[in-house]
Amino acid sequence: MKVQGKTVWITGASSGIGEALAVELFGRGATLILSARNEARLNELKARLDSISPGRCHVVVCDVTSQPAIDTAIEKVRQIANRIDILINNAGVSQRSYAIETSLEVVRELLEVNFFSAVAVTKGLLPWMISQGGGHLVVISSMAGKFGFRMRSAYAASKHALHGFFETLRAEVHDQGIKVTMICPGRINTDISKHSLTGDGKLYGKMDAGQANGVSVDKCAKIIVKAIIRDRKEVFIGGPELFLLVVKRICPPAYYWIVNRASPT
Ligand code: NDP
Repeated sequence: MKVQGKTVWITGASSGIGEALAVELFGRGATLILSARNEARLNELKARLDSISPGRCHVVVCDVTSQPAIDTAIEKVRQIANRIDILINNAGVSQRSYAIETSLEVVRELLEVNFFSAVAVTKGLLPWMISQGGGHLVVISSMAGKFGFRMRSAYAASKHALHGFFETLRAEVHDQGIKVTMICPGRINTDISKHSLTGDGKLYGKMDAGQANGVSVDKCAKIIVKAIIRDRKEVFIGGPELFLLVVKRICPPAYYWIVNRASPT
């Protein structure tokens, strides 16, 4: 499948991986719907893309933790586009706090933005996608969707939940032309650590070394777009941390030794 001529809706497009995906997909000829809460940043990105080729980029502001906001956004998207070929559930917030010090409210908040929002946007769009004859759901999970890392208990729970939901959905709607691609990044160089929540719900606000030394966001976006084109079911993106995938399979004690000591920052 090519992305040229396709219409792609990206949540969390105001920064980081979502923004880089917008640039990459736009460069390959896609029409974009960009969503997030920060309208100014979305409009900046739209202006940048419009200056290259006008008319292929639309902004639909949406807080994906609000069901009324999602309903309104879907109505707006339907007015803008005849069809949505690809939905990228990318909006997300990470965590920097030990489980013992994390309030239940923060656990719920992380589940809300990382898991329930993706389910809600997808469920809102799915009947339309099926009636148009098919579509592609892309879910930005994480390596924390497969493993547990220190200071990521609720974040990891939310990302694990995505796999349970979307793996099941893939099997259920496969016959209706709906594809599902799960993306599991390791450490990507974005501001995600700055935007992370601490145990009492405050912003962590720091750029972690792990993040700063992560894979470049442009490289990450290129790999994601290739995965979409090739209809990959599950893709891991990262640096040395990907070694853990092999270690867990061939030598579980070594894996547990490493994750019990790995720096959470
Ligand atoms: P950023 O913090 O740069 O981007 C997060 C995006 O999510 C922003 O555009 C933000 O926009 C949006 N967002 C957050 N809350 C909401 C909300 N309530 N409604 C709508 N949009 C929201 O981080 P990344 O780009 O790194 O993260 C993108 C995705 O990649 C996330 O799902 C993250 O879990 C995942 N990921 C990232 C990794 C990394 O190392 N960077 C590793 C593994 C996974 P706004 O604030 O304007 O609403």
